[in-house]
Amino acid sequence: MNTQETVTTPESEIEQLVGNQRQYFRSNATLPVEFRVSQLEKLRDLLRSHEDELYEAIEKDFGKSKHHTQLTELFPLFEELEDAIKNVKKWAKPRRVPTNLLNQPGKSYIVPEPLGVTLVIGAWNFPYNLSLTPVVGSMVAGNTTVLKPSELPVETSRIMARIINENFDPNYLRVVEGGIPETTALLNQRWDKIFFTGSPQVGKIVNQAAAPHLTNVTLELGGKNPAIFAEDASVEVGVKRLVWAKFINSGQLCLAPDYILVHNSMKNDVLERIVEEIEKHNYSVENGNFVRIINERNFDRVTALIDPDKVYYGGKSDREERVIQPTVLHNVSPDDAVMKDEIFGPIIAVIDYETLDEAFDIVKSLEKPLAGYLFSNDKITKERFLREIPFGSGAINDAVMQNTNTNLPFGGVGNSGMGRYHGEFSFECFSHLKPILEKSNLIELDLKYYGHSDRQMNLIRKLG
Ligand code: NAD
Repeated sequence: MNTQETVTTPESEIEQLVGNQRQYFRSNATLPVEFRVSQLEKLRDLLRSHEDELYEAIEKDFGKSKHHTQLTELFPLFEELEDAIKNVKKWAKPRRVPTNLLNQPGKSYIVPEPLGVTLVIGAWNFPYNLSLTPVVGSMVAGNTTVLKPSELPVETSRIMARIINENFDPNYLRVVEGGIPETTALLNQRWDKIFFTGSPQVGKIVNQAAAPHLTNVTLELGGKNPAIFAEDASVEVGVKRLVWAKFINSGQLCLAPDYILVHNSMKNDVLERIVEEIEKHNYSVENGNFVRIINERNFDRVTALIDPDKVYYGGKSDREERVIQPTVLHNVSPDDAVMKDEIFGPIIAVIDYETLDEAFDIVKSLEKPLAGYLFSNDKITKERFLREIPFGSGAINDAVMQNTNTNLPFGGVGNSGMGRYHGEFSFECFSHLKPILEKSNLIELDLKYYGHSDRQMNLIRKLG
């Protein structure tokens, strides 16, 4: 367990930093595409040359192995960086759109414009990916950025601060470390964009802080993600995918399936296969396929959700090591404690249902989740799932993997967040799309001026 403190920054310095970034942004230095490419390449090269230290830091914070970190943090981050470097020229170009007859001769286009001075607040569960992927979005769109990583994983926060603060101009990109006091001081400043990843509770604090300046906000939050096994589901492959998705990062994943709704005809089959699959993985921190719970507070919160009467498999835990065994709860009812809040730990809660309506009602009685998963091959069931159940993003016959396709945006809805990012969506998330009409001076139809006859009005309507 790491007990070292993060470096803190006084509010006066934060105010000065934001003021300097604003001046720098106003100098237009961040606008040229060449500048953006050079800064993104610099970030990529720095991360590559410090890769071993990045692995070491996350290992110290919560026992996360190199391969796990590559798969869930650095590979997706490098992919975002390469995508941004390759496409920034295309994304930053004005986009031509058709012009209506009334505005002829003329042309219409949309000019992407950086928002300005941005604040990115990261969560702890994927400290590199969830802090730096939004930073890539901010940079590719031509903004200046202050990053506040989560203070809980001390080592990863520190190494990101060291790599960035020793190598980038603070007027352009700066990491400010710290916890609630520093985040509060940051939120007291005026920003052009705040990008926050974390819990819905803190998301509300961020939204309130943004309101006085009408600051553009993206909130990437969490929720209780359902996985529904319909009567016709392909159980073998479905359970295999589900178990993998549930226990990555020991269930400390915002997209992880939180509870499973299983048709009661297949309940025993699904439960048995879940256990088989868990045992095949042989999860442990030593094997590099499991991680520690981030801190004692979360360890106590998650273990309190394990009702001994409902344990089908697992249930053991070690507070000193901060490890909770993969655990399956069965005969769960929507009134149980485990169904009140997002689990965010290695517990699967299994609820069985009789009719699809009953399953859908349970999902719809809760807040809109970040993700929804359906295991079914039936056309009507799939259509109903997509039409009737609101969620941020989802998968059919899989879970979590939608997040690996940068052509798909990532974000929540309602209580699980607002806004979206990844790939070109990140560029748009940190840009204003400025619509422009550019007229020719060759001809001017006199239709809209002076008095209007019925004939003129009809013509205007037609040219619309
Ligand atoms: P959190 O909300 O506790 O913390 C997130 C950030 O907010 C941290 O940087 C923290 O320093 C700051 N913070 C905490 N309390 C604050 C306060 N009172 N005032 C101002 N700032 C404060 O979230 P977490 O524990 O880091 O992450 C877990 C939650 O995040 C889960 O709900 C999970 O689903 C969600 N999450 C969402 C995504 C996503 O991309 N949608 C990704 C990961 C995690």
